Amino acid sequence: MDRELDSFKLFDPEIYEALKGELERQRAKINLIASENYASPEILRITGCLLTNKYAEGYPGKRYYSGCEFVDEVEELARIRAMSLFGSEHANVQPHSGTQANMAVYFSMLKPGDTIMTMDLSSGGHLSHGAKSNFSGMLYKVVHYSVNRETEKLDYDEVRVIAETEKPKLIVAGGSSYSRWIDFEEFREIADEVGAVLMVDMAHFSGLVAGKAHPSPVPYADVVTSTTHKTLRGPRGGFILSQQRYAERIDASVFPGTQGGPLMNVIAAKAVCFKEASKPKFRSYAEEVVLNARVLAEKLASNGLRVVSGGTDTHLFLIDLRPMRITGKEAQEILDSVDINVNMNEIPYDPAPPNITSGIRIGTPAITTRGMRPEHMDLLGDLITSALEKRHDSMALARVRSEIQEFARNFPLYQEVF
Ligand SMILES: *Cc1c(COP(=O)(O)O)cnc(C)c1O
Repeated sequence: MDRELDSFKLFDPEIYEALKGELERQRAKINLIASENYASPEILRITGCLLTNKYAEGYPGKRYYSGCEFVDEVEELARIRAMSLFGSEHANVQPHSGTQANMAVYFSMLKPGDTIMTMDLSSGGHLSHGAKSNFSGMLYKVVHYSVNRETEKLDYDEVRVIAETEKPKLIVAGGSSYSRWIDFEEFREIADEVGAVLMVDMAHFSGLVAGKAHPSPVPYADVVTSTTHKTLRGPRGGFILSQQRYAERIDASVFPGTQGGPLMNVIAAKAVCFKEASKPKFRSYAEEVVLNARVLAEKLASNGLRVVSGGTDTHLFLIDLRPMRITGKEAQEILDSVDINVNMNEIPYDPAPPNITSGIRIGTPAITTRGMRPEHMDLLGDLITSALEKRHDSMALARVRSEIQEFARNFPLYQEVF
């Protein structure tokens, strides 16, 4: 084992130790962090390939450096594959991350001081949707819509009222911890009624869209942004899809607007990711991610835990821990101590501060890649419940941890690579 890592041992022992530790950590933990996944060995390899040597500021056929004929082919392949996978008129595959993709779209559509309307953070939004500590909150006037207090789902009448009152220039749909399908057609109508641009941020659920396990925003949105490393299971990065009429503005806003040279090695890995995501196997993967999430949420609910909004349509859901009298921070730590990784997360209208929170977010993209199926969710749900309920009983926690370790061994990770 550890073949690929072994080569680091001599020339950089310190990095080797950290990488080895990380490999063992990834193998030992059950990863329920909804924004993470395990990229394929092919994607790992191509992300570390020789294309990292090439400067390619500009776009295929219009570069500022010579010697770009092969990287042009790579970027064109990535673009064409993204457009055909999602059925869009234009794709820009250069954004270094999801936040960079959002920044480029804002810069292409807005002037500083313009109003954007987004979902608030505790309802499931994202920092790049106008948080005060983020550039988006510093440059633009931000108005939020929230989920309904009772249903904990989006209420489109409320969204419409806020849009009519505030007249935003751009409306963002999509978030990081909203577990329900979003009605993109409804958002389109609202945007049209107030003359706003509609941007859908599908960073979280783009893999489900690619795998046809989730409705696609592409027919409704002016612009769609995404990451490639979450449910889409590619390298860490971002991309933008849009209608053709916005192509020029968006491209200019990515480069030279907000970025310099593109990461051509990562763009090659994005091309491989789009190819993988167009295969029938990825379709079964996406369906299984959603099924696993639904079964795990049902199991936890039947064990007495409170699932926010009563369930999920996607790869993730939130648990409200207030009835158990634990904070999100404590639950994250307890579960980590038994080798389960989740993240603390605000729940709608959370009374606790964001570095404590009243909830945890649970997602199934990574465990599904690892081979876990709906029939494994019963055991997993029971172990999560036991750890939280018996958090003061160190013997019980030790038993849960050893069960998790035994369970994890049934799902080998990167056996063939390292
Ligand atoms: C993860 C995420 C992003 C940004 O991703 P980074 O690649 O970490 O910058 C943007 N929007 C949403 C909704 C996300 O969940």
